[in-house]
Amino acid sequence: MLRTRGLRYEYRDGPSLAFDDVAVPQGATLLLQGGSGSGKSTWLALAAGLLTPGAGEVVVAGQSLPALSRAARDAWRGRHLGFLPQKLHLSEALTVERNLALAFYAAGVPENRAALRRALETLGVGALAARRPSQLSGGQAQRVALARTILMEPAVILADEPTASLDDEAASNALALLQDCAFRCNATLVIATHDRRVQEALPAAMVHRIGRHAAQGNAGA
Ligand code: ADP
Ligand code: MG
Repeated sequence: MLRTRGLRYEYRDGPSLAFDDVAVPQGATLLLQGGSGSGKSTWLALAAGLLTPGAGEVVVAGQSLPALSRAARDAWRGRHLGFLPQKLHLSEALTVERNLALAFYAAGVPENRAALRRALETLGVGALAARRPSQLSGGQAQRVALARTILMEPAVILADEPTASLDDEAASNALALLQDCAFRCNATLVIATHDRRVQEALPAAMVHRIGRHAAQGNAGA
């Protein structure tokens, strides 16, 4: 279950955003739609506890995120939430395996080699564990990033524009992998996208269109 209520966020040097309420049952898939600049990435960052809302409630898998301290939120995120960012953020200084191992440190739990191998095998990239990110194709890098996302068997998976730079075949593969990973963990899956192909590929998914409205000056509305 992922639920937001009365969510608002104000960028210091940018817009004030107000979001309509969202509720996604555990294990369901939500497509978060909206044009460029509508607030999709901001919403994901709020749902991941990476940003603190100016107002409103975010409850993810039974946990109210704004109620936690920043440090507690970081540990909670590391343990329960898989975030697939738009930019993959794999460190070139580290092998694929060491890149994934960082997730255990972020979650504050002992490194679990078996789980690490299993995540890479699940995504079909077990043979690439010793490589550096620059030695991967785009599709392989995305599989590695997805393996990192599911490493801790998260209750929630958030993906930001996962098909944006992919051709039709790669996009459909990436979506199938995401759904498969979410299904294995019974995770709630939220995909932020303005790619029409995503809804065609996932006809059973719930859809929430982000209506962008400025929070300021809306007090009486
Ligand atoms: P989307 O992901 O739907 O393209 P974003 O959530 O990235 O939208 O952005 C929503 C709005 O907030 C846009 O107007 C964007 O310019 C603005 N914005 C995003 N990040 C920042 C930031 N760090 N500082 C100021 N404004 C920002
Ligand atoms: Mg975005």
